[in-house]
Amino acid sequence: MTNEQTDAIADFIRQLPKAELHLHLEGTILPATLVELSVRHDERPISLREAETLYRFTDFTGFIEAFRAVTRLLTTPEDYELAAWRMMQRLAAQGVVHAEVYISVGVIYMWRNHDPAAFEPVFAGLERARQRAASELGLSIYWIFDAVRHFTVSEAERVFLKAAEIRSACPAVIGIGLGGDERRCGSEPFRGLYAQAKKAGLRLTNHAGETTGPEAIWEALSIGSERIGHALSAINDTELIEELKSRNIALELNPTSNIRTSVCPSFAAHPLRRYFDQGLLVTLNSDDPAFFGSDLANEYLLAHTQQAFTRDELRQLAANSFRASFLPETEKSQWLSRIDTLG
Ligand SMILES: [Zn+2]
Repeated sequence: MTNEQTDAIADFIRQLPKAELHLHLEGTILPATLVELSVRHDERPISLREAETLYRFTDFTGFIEAFRAVTRLLTTPEDYELAAWRMMQRLAAQGVVHAEVYISVGVIYMWRNHDPAAFEPVFAGLERARQRAASELGLSIYWIFDAVRHFTVSEAERVFLKAAEIRSACPAVIGIGLGGDERRCGSEPFRGLYAQAKKAGLRLTNHAGETTGPEAIWEALSIGSERIGHALSAINDTELIEELKSRNIALELNPTSNIRTSVCPSFAAHPLRRYFDQGLLVTLNSDDPAFFGSDLANEYLLAHTQQAFTRDELRQLAANSFRASFLPETEKSQWLSRIDTLG
């Protein structure tokens, strides 16, 4: 492609209203912000070079370590507010109009000595950023409380109960999810908690089939997960593909993330195109954009350059992001007709 063609498609992508459904707040913190946080909290603050080195991991374990180091520097409510506001500014700049953002509530608890009262001030900081983004950027945000699957079931219960409690006063808390290391723990132990969360009106997401086989996705479906994060290994199971299709289960795909954690060799090899052609409800997402050197607009651009998605197909990906969102039906249809009328 010539530079002019790239500019034209990048412009089209920016103008396309998009929702981002798989984005971890902690994974949006750029090295420069990390240095800023370190200056606030560390006796010997890390340098920009050290921060950049931290982000240069080569596998999934290295990624988890980097993620942990970044989260450790998020200490005060003001830190969270700053991180959230920076994330929201970048989302708006890419033409993202709605995002459903994971917060690692399980990790926050662990580092606050399991004091449930410590979470409220942090959440208040996040809410200040959300309200500011709604009024200044026209951006809508929902929160998904994420538990760490390889901690204990009772730790996850604490996270999900907090989600249910806060949701009654703050409907922006839309759902729950399970992140962490799938190789150490599947979904089955959380069956009862998912049923309870559903009863409390929370929507159910789940990371599955990122570092594990299709059986992990079957297990995630069996406990009631409505959306599957990554679902990379579904490509190896035709029966599962049929199941996902007939139930219209939304897949939150994150191609660049999968390449950076070495669970997929290249963007071209990612099953995005094959899932899309088979009629699955696929959405494109950036997961932890600061760690992976990408963002949502760039993922759309790569879908165009690496997997030959046409403008119409990119439009369908954007439409899918609203269909798969937890927005009310009226808002979904408004965005869908905006996408239809975009030249
Ligand atoms: Zn994720």
